[in-house]
Amino acid sequence: MILDKIDSLKSKYADYRLNKINKLEMRLNKVPGAVSASSNSPEKKMPDKLKITLKTLPKQLSIAKNMEKTIKSLDENPENPKMHMDSKFKDEFENYAISLGINKIGYVDVPSDLIFQDRSILFKKAIVLTMEMDENAVNMAPSPQTQEDGIVTYDELGKKTNFLAQYLRENGFSSHPSHPAGGLVVYTKLAKEAGLGNIGRHGLLITPELGPRQRISALFISAENLPDTSSEAHLWISEFCASCGKCIKKCPGQAIVEKNTPQGLKTKIITDLCHGCTICMKECSFNQVGYHKIENNFHS
Ligand code: SF4
Ligand code: SF4
Repeated sequence: MILDKIDSLKSKYADYRLNKINKLEMRLNKVPGAVSASSNSPEKKMPDKLKITLKTLPKQLSIAKNMEKTIKSLDENPENPKMHMDSKFKDEFENYAISLGINKIGYVDVPSDLIFQDRSILFKKAIVLTMEMDENAVNMAPSPQTQEDGIVTYDELGKKTNFLAQYLRENGFSSHPSHPAGGLVVYTKLAKEAGLGNIGRHGLLITPELGPRQRISALFISAENLPDTSSEAHLWISEFCASCGKCIKKCPGQAIVEKNTPQGLKTKIITDLCHGCTICMKECSFNQVGYHKIENNFHS
């Protein structure tokens, strides 16, 4: 009886997360001046089932609440927002973000082909944020601890992204937060565009500070004079990956597949085969060996 009730609660929650938030996001398409997806934008794939355990349920509920808040809090944006951010406030914002546990901050104009099909964002300028996943938990993959840490980091970064949106509003800017667990843009590519790192063959962002061990979120903002932190410093990673392939060999679901494209051999994650074990993150050479050691060897 109790188990039936728990199952029913979990299934109601999964429906809520997968459908209600989807509908809330669609509302943004009607906002005047919103930036829409392009004709070649990717489709947003929502998982058809969520792994929910009693232990992770509170965090999953918090994720749902904070995903909802990303849209509902838009009503709190100022009527006449600031369009210019001075360097003093930018420093204050970055210091506040770091004090909340944000690891890295990048700035970039969002290319419309990185906005998911049928979605819109309120501003073209993006602040891209990353947060570390616990090293011990990742290195225990596959394990319940790894899965829990993945959910905890989604929740923490989602909450902090909403805090930062509120902080920007209190200081006169309009801000549109995008939750890390199912946002409006392709985060890995946006983070690459913002110069934070490059994308490995496992489809994860690789950064000098954390290798593949981070979650990503974004804040779209009314300020139009933010810098562009894009950089070519991490492009060599693709060349290293081409000679590595460890994540492909270690993936137990054979979910990382290679395909020939006009731009050369590319990898693609088959989401139906991926069961989120995090082994690809753990086994990645940038996690096992470290970014700077690989970079030094690569360039020597
Ligand atoms: S999470 Fe696991 S199943 Fe999915 S791509 Fe990575 S190693 Fe493969
Ligand atoms: S395991 Fe190797 S091929 Fe895969 S992403 Fe990491 S470095 Fe690249």
